[in-house]
Amino acid sequence: MNPAVVVGAGPVGLSAALALRAHGLPALVLEADPEDRERPGSRALFVHRETLALLDGVAPGLAAEITAYGRTWHTRRTLYRGREVYARTFPPRSGPQTALPPFTSLRQVDTERFLRAACARAGVEFVWGARVTDVRTTPDGAVLSGEDGRKWHAGHVVAADGARSAVRRGLGIAMEGVRGEGFHVVVDVADVPGAELPLERVFHYEHPGVGGRSVMRVPFTGGFQVDLQCRDDDTEEAFGTEEAVRRWLPAVVGDGYGGADGHDRRILWVSTYRFLRKVAASFADPHRRVLLVGEAAHLFPPFGARGMNSGIADAVAAAGAVAAGTDRAVEEFAGTRRAAGLFNSAAAGLALEHLRPRRRTVRLRQRAAAALAPVLPSCGSWLEHAPYGPRGGAPAAAGKY
Ligand SMILES: Cc1cc2nc3c(=O)[nH]c(=O)nc-3n(C[C@H](O)[C@H](O)[C@H](O)COP(=O)(O)OP(=O)(O)OC[C@H]3O[C@@H](n4cnc5c(N)ncnc54)[C@H](O)[C@@H]3O)c2cc1C
Repeated sequence: MNPAVVVGAGPVGLSAALALRAHGLPALVLEADPEDRERPGSRALFVHRETLALLDGVAPGLAAEITAYGRTWHTRRTLYRGREVYARTFPPRSGPQTALPPFTSLRQVDTERFLRAACARAGVEFVWGARVTDVRTTPDGAVLSGEDGRKWHAGHVVAADGARSAVRRGLGIAMEGVRGEGFHVVVDVADVPGAELPLERVFHYEHPGVGGRSVMRVPFTGGFQVDLQCRDDDTEEAFGTEEAVRRWLPAVVGDGYGGADGHDRRILWVSTYRFLRKVAASFADPHRRVLLVGEAAHLFPPFGARGMNSGIADAVAAAGAVAAGTDRAVEEFAGTRRAAGLFNSAAAGLALEHLRPRRRTVRLRQRAAAALAPVLPSCGSWLEHAPYGPRGGAPAAAGKY
């Protein structure tokens, strides 16, 4: 019997495997996809300082590798209908060069590349092309079934098999929460060499170039992501197809990046993203043998970058509970990480309310804050911070995420 099996080789499963190895346990990862799979889209960009610290704790040196490749910027700007209401450049970090930056930004596929290399160094074993279809647990362990009839016996299972988790479904654990109206469009754009946009994060409320929709631009290594908030009655055909993006993108980032001037190849990936706020009813099975982590356990809208960051926190906590080897430790994991999931879900909900105001009063408040920002900097600061949800207030035992 394997002491611990991880299902899923996304960023969360890879982190769980590294954390198990750091506890001196063997780690076997079962992944449905083939080893040479392609993972399109930039997806989760931000790796926050807390996450870098967790990763460095389980694979020393990994944080330095990731931050050397990723991008950290010091300028943040917020505009309202074409007018700047907040701009701040933070001094670059001082002190020992080993100090971690507040965040680094890179495509998820690159984060996963670093995690996979660290797993190889740590002696994590992988079975690629192994799609798990079901799980059975007893007080002594778990049996995973593969679609091809294979079986794996494990003392504990860390289920990191994503939003449609077969392990979670096999256990009959429900996802509780809401699905919001509407969608946003996420576009990855490659930098034009020699004409890169400034290294800064820009949030633009009610951008006049896209009919008053809000837009965010976030750099990553090699390009940037543009995020357009659509209205409830917008259609994907009008905003979310590559053809549609080519029409509206130049108004946001300039002609070199969209339009009909031969630069269409700059658009690397377009996806539409719906707003799910769901948390699993339990993060462990009744026998305390399976621990749910990452998107198998929770789905948040991406504002505030809570998905992957909190998933990696789940993964490290799950490995700690497996290493402790007691039901009590698994119960504590399940309670603490579910509380963190509920906090993150509520925080992402507040961000969403601000980004997609349902009530007219919210929009009026934003307009008033924009008008007052030149004389009352706190108004500009509120407009700058609110799209990401509250930054403090997470349950103490759970850390920031
Ligand atoms: C199109 C898209 C765009 C996104 N954009 C953003 C964004 O802009 N910002 C942001 O913060 N987040 C974004 N996300 C979310 C982010 O990608 C997730 O938070 C992150 O991937 C969660 O990691 P995970 O390891 O829990 O799950 P996943 O990355 O989904 O990994 C799950 C792994 O399990 C494997 N698997 C699934 N089922 C099985 C099975 N039955 N048996 C074995 N293996 C299985 C999968 O192949 C996969 O490798 C996006 C996600 C998608 C899909």
